[in-house]
Amino acid sequence: MKSLPYFCRGEVVRGFGRGSKELGIPTANFPDSVVEHLPGDISTGIYYGWACVGSGEVHKMVMSIGWNPYYKNTKKSMETHVIHTFKEDFYGQILSVVMVGYIRPERSYDSLDALISAINHDIEEAKRNLELPEHLKLKEDNFFRADGSNSTTTSNQILNGH
Ligand code: ADP
Ligand code: MG
Repeated sequence: MKSLPYFCRGEVVRGFGRGSKELGIPTANFPDSVVEHLPGDISTGIYYGWACVGSGEVHKMVMSIGWNPYYKNTKKSMETHVIHTFKEDFYGQILSVVMVGYIRPERSYDSLDALISAINHDIEEAKRNLELPEHLKLKEDNFFRADGSNSTTTSNQILNGH
């Protein structure tokens, strides 16, 4: 996918209440405005990369891009699981991410256990791949340091780092 790495940020909004948190894998949802700007070659499936909440630390992440049931599966959704334990929820805060690589397509699972185990595999693969020097470099990208005061972007704008 030629659009990778892909940088974007947006406010964390409420998701579909699918109970991801109860599974131990909360996923922070981006608003439609961010999803609509995804380049055409970014297909649905599971991605890995780096993420940062507000001006906090940069953590590893896995992201699922899927079809949004609210729009009868005609629009995509982007859900990021940050590989870090947060003390509190961060709805309303700005989530900045860089999608670095693709893991696998979406698929459905026979059981909840199978789904959870697949996601845990994705998390392990993400952790491993992100240790590659070319990926570690992106963690230090200025994109994650911009505090807005010296740039013309605002938190409401969608950024594509290319
Ligand atoms: P929703 O359906 O509203 O997306 P989830 O059960 O998926 O609900 O929980 C997502 C919310 O959990 C995020 O919006 C965020 O505020 C919070 N959260 C806490 N820890 C994490 C994490 N490690 N990764 C992503 N979201 C997290
Ligand atoms: Mg969610």
